[in-house]
Amino acid sequence: MSMLDDTQAYLSDAFDALGFTGLQKRLFQTPSREVKVELVIERDNGELAHFIGFRVQHDNSRGPYKGGLRYHPHVDLGEVNSLASLMTWKTAVIDVPFGGAKGGIQCDPATLSLREQERLTRRFVDAIHEVIGPYTDIPAPDVNTNGQHMAWFFDQYSRLNGHSPGVVTGKPVDLFGSAGREAATGRGVMFAVLEALRHDGEDIRGKKVAVQGYGNVGSWAARLLAAQGAQIVAVSDVRGGVQSPEGLDLAAVDAQVKATGSVVGTPGTDAITNEALLVMACDILIPAALGEVITADNAPHLRCRYIAEGANGPTTYAANQILNARGVTTLPDIFANAGGVTVSWFEWVQNIQQFQWTEAEVNSRLEDKMRAGFQALVATAGRHRCGLREAAFILALERVAAATRKRGFL
Ligand code: NAD
Repeated sequence: MSMLDDTQAYLSDAFDALGFTGLQKRLFQTPSREVKVELVIERDNGELAHFIGFRVQHDNSRGPYKGGLRYHPHVDLGEVNSLASLMTWKTAVIDVPFGGAKGGIQCDPATLSLREQERLTRRFVDAIHEVIGPYTDIPAPDVNTNGQHMAWFFDQYSRLNGHSPGVVTGKPVDLFGSAGREAATGRGVMFAVLEALRHDGEDIRGKKVAVQGYGNVGSWAARLLAAQGAQIVAVSDVRGGVQSPEGLDLAAVDAQVKATGSVVGTPGTDAITNEALLVMACDILIPAALGEVITADNAPHLRCRYIAEGANGPTTYAANQILNARGVTTLPDIFANAGGVTVSWFEWVQNIQQFQWTEAEVNSRLEDKMRAGFQALVATAGRHRCGLREAAFILALERVAAATRKRGFL
């Protein structure tokens, strides 16, 4: 099964729980628009290079389309479709006034200079600017894109359409970005974990946490959970991982990343592979890299009690069934990593009001949204006697269906 099949299978269970049939199912499974564009740029050496970019707009019944831009060799229409659909359900679960979209460029940014990435980003804006906009579709960073890419995106769109800071979120703080946006997804993961533990009458202090993917989401989740008293026993990135049973010194890990670009080889740690990290004994596992890493093969061997999905789509449908049967509590991606889109909403609100909030205000409003989201999930899970992932899809579908119905179809 592909990631798109997994998303459709989760959705299908929610359709069954709500008694949706035929047309209703097709409506929520089918994206509103798929855009595929050809991008040609000049390399620094004068040669031409050719890329394909995608933007999929899944649903906008609750507000403008919203979703990140991913630069990765595996980006294809199926993956972007799945991620766009997840955004529709995520914005509904966390109750922000956006729909769902996703985009990306099939490329390996490691082989592109910064200037080449800038040219590619600007060509992408040229190719899709007619179908996006501050009240239409608002991109944001995702894997291998960051505030600098968003700055180029904002600049190119504004050259074509006039000053439009609200066209994209995740911008640098000194260029219409929001205080707190960089850490927001990891901070949201932390609030999700704290809320789940509080619900179960447990304390974060001394809990062992393993994090796959020490990028934006994973590193912030790790740092913020460590600050709450958790022990981060392992972290990894694409090159491998490091572990320490007594808890890693994250300042040393950060220094290693700064010096070498990877966590691998952090002094005072032992090596661990990405595969071994997923099945190591810990209280909380945070997959925060790519999709489909927890599968039917490794799910029977996981030794955690909670999974907090920082990444999008890290758990396959078959693995989810196994984990449910084993009693592992999963904080699903469409809730656990919704801190990013929540603070994206705060950034957009500040942009269109031409106003600025303090970081404390942003973080406190984010905490309120994550706590309310968790309580809504628990209530839905209670009503439908199901796990938190199933509850998340049911809750999201109820909200999107209600908006669709009330807007009318004709
Ligand atoms: P990032 O590029 O900052 O970090 C990704 C990390 O994963 C890096 O450390 C990278 O080395 C590692 N990685 C990549 N391939 C790997 C592999 N095969 N095995 C192990 N590690 C690997 O990206 P990010 O923004 O932190 O996003 C991570 C995940 O979180 C993605 O699934 C993304 O869709 C999701 N997400 C991100 C945000 C956000 O605000 N950035 C919001 C919601 C969800």
